[in-house]
Amino acid sequence: MHAIANHPLVTHRITLLRDRATPPKLFRELVGEVTAYLAFEALTDLRLKEVPVTTPVAETRGWLVDERIVLVPILRAGMGMLNAMLNVLPDAKVGVLGMQRNEETAEPVPYYAKVPPAQGDELALVIDPMLATGGSACDAVAQLKKLGYARIKFLCLISAPEGIAKFEREHPDVPVFTGIVDECLNSRFYIVPGLGDAGDRIFGTL
Ligand code: URA
Repeated sequence: MHAIANHPLVTHRITLLRDRATPPKLFRELVGEVTAYLAFEALTDLRLKEVPVTTPVAETRGWLVDERIVLVPILRAGMGMLNAMLNVLPDAKVGVLGMQRNEETAEPVPYYAKVPPAQGDELALVIDPMLATGGSACDAVAQLKKLGYARIKFLCLISAPEGIAKFEREHPDVPVFTGIVDECLNSRFYIVPGLGDAGDRIFGTL
């Protein structure tokens, strides 16, 4: 299953993200804003627990989030989405997966993993701005499943149809929440039209 954000304010921000003239500071802010929107969309089924609340006017009951959540940015570009996720989910834990792309084959090469031990019922949210070939996303989810994570969702800003197809083939149980689905990959495995290298644009390493 994949859900595409269908909101004019997301479309507006993705257009600004695509623009090569958008500087890193604005780029990071826009990444954060689209990420927060995706988080709200991806979390409509969060478990709540009932609690009593005293307002200035009356006693009532309310509901608070009752979930253990682990955010899993894929290094390096996934870090650009992390602050926005933590703003939405301040009690979340963070696990980090380092995956480098072999520029010739586009295969992911894992080089770092530090993820909280799975307890069984926590929700892992994997974040990476670009779902291109799907290689690192699939690998990240496979690593989490191996560690015992059973509830996983994947959030990204822009996807290629090829990446979505691979991801859904390999992990049909993991929903994808994406800002938009672009046309295709080019011969260097960049998303077209895309926004270029998300990590370079976030960290100003162009
Ligand atoms: N990673 C990026 O940062 N951009 C792409 O277009 C594809 C993968």
